[in-house]
Amino acid sequence: MRSNIDGHFLLIGLMAYPIRHSLSPQMQNTIYSKLNIPFIYLAFEVDQLKLPDAIKGLRALGLRGSAISMPNKQLVCQYLDKLTPAVEMSGACNTISNDNGVLTGYNTDGIGYMRMLAEAGINMLDKKITVLGAGGAATAIAVQAALDGVKEIAIFNQKDECYTKIESVIKKLNEQTKCKVHITDLADENELRKQIADSDVLCNATGVGMKPLEGQSLITDPTILRSDLVVTDCIYSPRKTKLLEMAEQQGCKTLNGIGMMLWQGAAQIKIWTGEDAPIDYVKEQMG
Ligand code: NAD
Repeated sequence: MRSNIDGHFLLIGLMAYPIRHSLSPQMQNTIYSKLNIPFIYLAFEVDQLKLPDAIKGLRALGLRGSAISMPNKQLVCQYLDKLTPAVEMSGACNTISNDNGVLTGYNTDGIGYMRMLAEAGINMLDKKITVLGAGGAATAIAVQAALDGVKEIAIFNQKDECYTKIESVIKKLNEQTKCKVHITDLADENELRKQIADSDVLCNATGVGMKPLEGQSLITDPTILRSDLVVTDCIYSPRKTKLLEMAEQQGCKTLNGIGMMLWQGAAQIKIWTGEDAPIDYVKEQMG
């Protein structure tokens, strides 16, 4: 517990509902303490009904910024003054920065994923990635990958609401970036095999592999996974999903969702405080 909180400390919020279970306050406050910087991070139960007033409150009280989580990531965009290109394209914001009353919306999920790859020594410029999923995480990753110079993104998803919703994002990416992006029904196994065959990275951005679907994988035939394919999973609990276990057995380099989570948090800290997060220290604290 910090004992030196004085009138100069700045508040950063987390607006979501439900939110009491979140590990972010602990992670963020641990980092602020370690860096000895005058910031405090608190979670606020804010649903869609309360969001407009919460944003007015953020402005009135001069919060330094706020993290935004479900169910507010899309709705919040209309209350902000500026949006980054990634937020413009994805329609989802998970971070607000308040710079002297001007609210800018960022999305650090895709930034976190791309940084995780870069930190693992994987250069994605002109490369190809296959993404399983079309929800929030998959959309953020596809948008950031396209903005960061990835050459081609093959998305696979079941024919649900997410499939329909991501189609307009894909259209924007094809029109506004040099990346070629396309989506196919996950049920088309031949096409999945074909797209993975010339991909550099495979990314699972669905909940398949974590509770209640722990022990399951959308890839069932391990021979699809060449040893030079980098296999990543957004899931961090469990640390090793069925997909990563299969990939490891095939000799692939694997990365779980911890890196994405840590680096997206680090990107938020950079935005709010200007500081570089002590990632190794955070990893140590998380065990
Ligand atoms: P979401 O609800 O927005 O999207 C879920 C996606 O999974 C959709 O594409 C849906 O079609 C697909 N899906 C769900 N059940 C399926 C099934 N049985 N078979 C095939 N596809 C199925 O969720 P999200 O926010 O995009 O999260 C997706 C995953 O990414 C979750 O596991 C989440 O924990 C993880 N995530 C990790 C980080 C991180 O920092 N590591 C950040 C965000 C999300």
